[in-house]
Amino acid sequence: MHNDHPFATWGLCGHERVLELLERAYVRGKLAHAIILSGPAHIGKYTVAVQLARALVCTNEKNPARPCEQCAMCVSSKNNVHPDITHVSRQDDKKEITVDQVRALRSSLEHTSLFEGYRVAIIEDADALTDEGANALLKILEEPRGKTVFLLITTNTHRMLRTIQSRCVTIALSPEEQHVIQSFLVKRGVDRSHAEMIAALARGKIGTALDLAHDEEKLLAVKETHEQMLALLEDASWTARRKRIETVADQWVQANAVAMMSTMLHTILRLSISAVEDKTTHTDHRFIAIARRGRSEQWSQSISFLNTVAYTIQTTNVQPLFAYEQFLLSLP
Ligand SMILES: [Zn+2]
Repeated sequence: MHNDHPFATWGLCGHERVLELLERAYVRGKLAHAIILSGPAHIGKYTVAVQLARALVCTNEKNPARPCEQCAMCVSSKNNVHPDITHVSRQDDKKEITVDQVRALRSSLEHTSLFEGYRVAIIEDADALTDEGANALLKILEEPRGKTVFLLITTNTHRMLRTIQSRCVTIALSPEEQHVIQSFLVKRGVDRSHAEMIAALARGKIGTALDLAHDEEKLLAVKETHEQMLALLEDASWTARRKRIETVADQWVQANAVAMMSTMLHTILRLSISAVEDKTTHTDHRFIAIARRGRSEQWSQSISFLNTVAYTIQTTNVQPLFAYEQFLLSLP
């Protein structure tokens, strides 16, 4: 699955604290031989695991938790053909990782590394091991194996055997901050205003952000909604707004559109407090013009009102369009 992972070349986004932790442990010779990387889906657990695995087989020791990208080991791990990095994941349509897969892993670890370096086993969805598979893995973890590191990835540690957990060091990864994801996207050529929007929509999940950045169709749909929302905010008169909202009503009902409007209002609020016009993009100028229509307290109230409207729609039978019309009336 990961040989042709579309984001493989994009590198790691954030998780600096985790990398530093691993680096310090490695430098002190205290890197655990079994590590659980836990956290919500799409936040980069797998990428952290791959980065660490590649760093461990890299022969350049300058940055212990980062691959040098230059040595022969790095070239082969980048192409996913390094013999000392083994991946175990659920096979195609299966819900579980079978005991046979664990046995195969065990026998692959039996012969020593040709390069006398580290060997790393990455186990994705470690909570999907069958009972038998989990017990077989436990046995492997109990055997001392010198320079072998196991990286177990999971969204749910509670579904893993206690005995496995007790053999591992658990590192919990959190969603990244919006600005980290945003600048990551910008550095890789995503247009600044789109990066801001994508980062906001992704809510800390770099996987989701990359998915949007790579999926033309999805991004196009998001861009269109963004443009409609911006146009709506630009309509100064209530009549014009009301006319426009009829065309975008469907999107409004989706939670993502609400998140988008909320992000836009936060941008407007920020600009209404301090409108710095240097180095701003075309989109920023449009936002600045909108921001000038109201005082910052008014924009702040609009944000609270939007939250209330979103909550009301979720929890009551109110007509979404009606609720949003009320919200639009409140805009400066
Ligand atoms: Zn290297």
